[in-house]
Amino acid sequence: MTAGNKWVYAFGAGYSEGEAGMRELLGGKGANLAEMATLGLPVPPGFTLTTQVCTAFYENKRQFPADLNEQVETALAKLEATAGKVLGDPANPLLVSVRSGGRASMPGMMDTVLNLGLNDETAAGLAELSGDRRFAYDSYRRFIQMYSDVVLGVDHAIFEDILDGFKDENDYSLDTDLSADDWEQIVSRYKTAAATALGRPFPTDPREQLWGAIGAVFMSWMTERAKTYRRLHDIPASWGTAVNVQAMVFGNMGETSATGVAFTRDPSTGDSGYYGEFLVNAQGEDVVAGIRTPQCLTEAMRERMGDHSPSMEAAMPESYAELSAAFDKLERHYRDMQDIEFTVERGRLWMLQTRTGKRTAKAALRIATDMAQEGLITEEEAVMRIDPSHLDQLLHPTLDPKAERDVLTTGLPASPGAATGRVVFDSDEAEERAKAGEKVILVRIETSPEDIHGMHAAEGIVTARGGMTSHAAVVARGMGRPCVSGAGQIKIDYAKKLFMVGRRTVHDGEMVTIDGSNGQVLYGEAKMIKPELTGEFAILMGWADKTRRMKVRANAETPQDCQTAVEFGAEGIGLCRTEHMFFDADRIAAVREMILSNDQDGRVTALDKILPMQRDDFAQIFRIMGELPCTIRLLDPPLHEFLPHTEEDVMDVATATGLPAEQLMARARDLAESNPMLGHRGCRLGITFPEIYEMQARAIFEAQIAVEKETGFQPLAEVMIPLVATVAELSILKARVAGVAQAVAEETGAKPKYLIGTMIELPRACLMSGEIAKDAEFFSFGTNDLTQTTFGLSRDDAGKFLGDYLEAGILEKDPFVTIDRDGVGDLVRIAVERGRATRPELKLGICGEHGGDPASIDFCEDVGLDYVSCSPYRVPIARLAAAQANLRRK
Ligand code: PEP
Ligand code: MG
Repeated sequence: MTAGNKWVYAFGAGYSEGEAGMRELLGGKGANLAEMATLGLPVPPGFTLTTQVCTAFYENKRQFPADLNEQVETALAKLEATAGKVLGDPANPLLVSVRSGGRASMPGMMDTVLNLGLNDETAAGLAELSGDRRFAYDSYRRFIQMYSDVVLGVDHAIFEDILDGFKDENDYSLDTDLSADDWEQIVSRYKTAAATALGRPFPTDPREQLWGAIGAVFMSWMTERAKTYRRLHDIPASWGTAVNVQAMVFGNMGETSATGVAFTRDPSTGDSGYYGEFLVNAQGEDVVAGIRTPQCLTEAMRERMGDHSPSMEAAMPESYAELSAAFDKLERHYRDMQDIEFTVERGRLWMLQTRTGKRTAKAALRIATDMAQEGLITEEEAVMRIDPSHLDQLLHPTLDPKAERDVLTTGLPASPGAATGRVVFDSDEAEERAKAGEKVILVRIETSPEDIHGMHAAEGIVTARGGMTSHAAVVARGMGRPCVSGAGQIKIDYAKKLFMVGRRTVHDGEMVTIDGSNGQVLYGEAKMIKPELTGEFAILMGWADKTRRMKVRANAETPQDCQTAVEFGAEGIGLCRTEHMFFDADRIAAVREMILSNDQDGRVTALDKILPMQRDDFAQIFRIMGELPCTIRLLDPPLHEFLPHTEEDVMDVATATGLPAEQLMARARDLAESNPMLGHRGCRLGITFPEIYEMQARAIFEAQIAVEKETGFQPLAEVMIPLVATVAELSILKARVAGVAQAVAEETGAKPKYLIGTMIELPRACLMSGEIAKDAEFFSFGTNDLTQTTFGLSRDDAGKFLGDYLEAGILEKDPFVTIDRDGVGDLVRIAVERGRATRPELKLGICGEHGGDPASIDFCEDVGLDYVSCSPYRVPIARLAAAQANLRRK
């Protein structure tokens, strides 16, 4: 990589040696400048030293390629000819900027030098030529400071001290108080200070300055901060940066000069119409720094904001007309909303930068749908333009971005949305207070299934322990409750009903606000914005639905969750976890009675009490879901989770059953397990206590028949057996469930419509899926347990150390959030292949948390699942992600 390479690409209004799409070689900035130049837009002339120069520089002991100098000279000559100015010519001096520009933007990480080419002679020339001495010497002192800092390594504080001292001496308070003579004096002091620091004079030869700056920008590619930024953003060091040398244009040359930034559409609402600001007689950094208040770009915007200063449209109509033509050209060319920087130098417009503009989720939807309707992009492109995770912002009430935030602490963003309420530490109390009309935030060290009612009653949940897939996180996401989990700095004292965080103490009943989208816990109440699911949102989701192959279902068990799921477009229930139904206050006693019974008879008596309630649960779900399929999972968790905890609980059961309390306690001790996740749970319960599953099956089938009689439509139940490892487990339980169906049919004279299938959530089940499919009419991948058992990594405890694994790069992503394609994914793939080989019509879905994660949904498309199932609030995200996954493979 030496002689013969083209290292330098020139550009200027109407010409460009580079082409569109040369981003790798020219970097983002260089490629966009080249493209704008090709489009005939007024770009200040310049040239780009390619990223290959950077690579060659580092490969060759920090020396430039031998023929680089010659190529730079040729490009510089062209630049000078176009600009009509010459670098170092006192009579007509050219000033240039030297900036970095990699393939990926690394904002603020690398160096820039502006106003290069100034020395005593050219500064005098510039003063003369511009008729503005103050401007010339102000530019000169800025250059000395910047160059000394960036290129020569002189501490910029030296210069700031000189300026502050000068202001004090002269009783000035603002930079604008300094006259041309003052700046000239400052220049002289700066040069002396630089020379003292350097031990040699400040360089006055513009060519020496140029090479110094080019070298410094390339060197800044390897600074520690740049390296850290690249590591955090997965940018390879081998990409290198390009360097852009470009003629300076000045927005601070009097009242006919200006500088500004603009978006071609409103980046927060997506409204069409330009959105931007400008400042008369100012430089770019003045707009960003916010020292002066910028003026509106358009009249429409000025009127909307009630601003009194004239808009650019009114104040500089000619430049504005030219600018607006450039905006339209750029937006049509890039087919996306652009973020643009421009300068007007003495009435002449210059385009400095364009890039695809960042935007809120709301704006993204509006822009994508508008552009498709304008014919600028296709509907499919519009669907691809929206980041599915971004939709989260729209599906929950969120904190007003302008709201003040008194942050107490930050935990994990476990379930999105924001909520405000009074702190409560106990689930029963949360329920009571919510019933009484109070909005509460449940704060717990961690939650267990017993807290379900409290979580449901609360507006939001905070836990001090637990990761993104802890109980609190999973349940909260399922319910659509905002949740911050693992807020480790919070120290909760249940007895005193308070929590402490740092030096602050928050008592029961005090107001807090949580932001589940970023993990913040705030003190007090903060302003919210409500979700809006109509308009553009509905249009875009309609386009997504047209293009997707996979169906989207919801994990839901309460009527309220099912209702939300349907409203969000769910096409069925993919997982109804029946255990949550066992915790209701009016049935937990019967559940405990059933568990603690000594024999089958005792259990059956207790189950008979639960049956009508379960039947009613299912009937409510079927009424909401109509004929959409509902996968109902039979009881899954180890029985000991339902055991009484307090003496009072035990006494309640003793009274109900007539059994002595000691005997009940002994039974409870018997049921305790040292490793319950791998213990007596899932279908193992069904094997040992057949009457539990039989009761549940009966409740399902009777509910179906009842709802059919009542409504005329025929509910479809998919009865799901959890945690199957062997085909024998499934065969036995399937036969029992089918037996119940038959009995119900005989008793009622009506046939329930149902399938029997299994969860695939153990590695053995994946491997044996060919056999299991003989008895299963559907598989639903329980990737929470499958991830846990494949990695041998506890779902509940992994949060404690997973962070270290992610930081060290041992794992790229949290495997409980995004499916591990290589390991867990391969088991899923095997199960799909073997299952379908046995039973080609086998229905395949996923109901682990991954079903709502866009990257995992892409994987599901890859292996050909029929549907994904996720919490109701993620249904729109999954619909969009499924559409995108399908489009990617078209
Ligand atoms: C799973 O294991 O992925 C699953 C959906 O079941 P649960 O989370 O209830 O164990
Ligand atoms: Mg499971």
